[in-house]
Amino acid sequence: MSGIYIHIPFCKQACHYCDFHFSTQLGKKEAMVQAIAKELVLRKSEIDDEVETIYFGGGTPSVLSDVEIEFLIQSVYDNYKVIDHPEITLEANPDDLTKNRIIQLSKCPINRLSIGIQSFFEEDLRLMNRAHNAGEAEECIQEATQYFDNITIDLIYGIPDMGNDRWKANIQKALDFGLPHISSYALTVEPRTALKKFIEKGVLPDVDDEQAQEQFHILVSMLEAHGFVNYEISNFGKPDYFSKNNTAYWLGKTYLGVGPSAHSFHGTHRSWNIRNNPTYIKKIEEGELPMEIETLSTTDRYNEYVMTGLRTIWGVDLARIESEFGKNYLKYLNQQSSKFVEQGFLVVDDGKLLTTKKGKFLADGIASDLFFVF
Ligand code: SF4
Repeated sequence: MSGIYIHIPFCKQACHYCDFHFSTQLGKKEAMVQAIAKELVLRKSEIDDEVETIYFGGGTPSVLSDVEIEFLIQSVYDNYKVIDHPEITLEANPDDLTKNRIIQLSKCPINRLSIGIQSFFEEDLRLMNRAHNAGEAEECIQEATQYFDNITIDLIYGIPDMGNDRWKANIQKALDFGLPHISSYALTVEPRTALKKFIEKGVLPDVDDEQAQEQFHILVSMLEAHGFVNYEISNFGKPDYFSKNNTAYWLGKTYLGVGPSAHSFHGTHRSWNIRNNPTYIKKIEEGELPMEIETLSTTDRYNEYVMTGLRTIWGVDLARIESEFGKNYLKYLNQQSSKFVEQGFLVVDDGKLLTTKKGKFLADGIASDLFFVF
């Protein structure tokens, strides 16, 4: 089974913390939709099994009209074998989700909405320069729950000046809507973002790692107490509502990413498209794929598996390490992980190396210590 990721590289305004690829010039939207549809045709030989998920990410896919969304979904169906009842997710921003729009979207084949709430509080939304306000954040969820059963929202923690009380209130508001899935990320300061500049100039305080770690633990305990499973560090789902798209990615299944900056993964190699809208459109119109390809070495694949495995409840399967990568890799992993096991950050359970509650927030750092480097 495979997944298709469609990157829509447009946003109404730039959030201060964002380093994804997007443009606020929406003039090329129509040409972009045509180019993405053409890329789906050009790359159809890359997937020979069935497609089980289609994911519109961005950018802000909800800037597309319903006609454009349906056109792209149809382009997938026209060129790939798609299972019955695939998971089809649309990332949407609250300011696009009016009642009418939600009703229209519910008539499209979209069956999962991922709403970029980030915070229910005006102070946080202004600090991050989100396009929506606190009222829109609540209203759109209220409306969306009338028409969609499978909804996820994003929340950000570790925001400067957002104390634990406001963070708890954010989580509580999300819980009050009875949603089946929540994704939550620490605010990170990426190079070349407005947030980075504001912190350097002293306009905003820097993010505080200790506060972020504390808020992560608050998140885990509040959501677990309400029946959510923290199946990946940043993802919490009720049983039967884990994201099929993301799970496939973490389990190393094939996915094809189309649109500028989209990444693809095919087990032994990965590729990524150019991060430039006009060049992407021009190349695709000329029948050329504007991408770079990297063949993954055994070490690359081992490192990637350790990294993703430690972030999930499925952990790193030690028998798989031996069968797929060899005895030396298993020996190395056991040696490198022993100190983390002794310190209570990792545990071996039923042949799987897993992060404990204590180690979860630190999983990426721990994984990098287990990487094979020569
Ligand atoms: S809406 Fe999303 S993709 Fe667009 S600027 Fe904000 S965070 Fe980035």
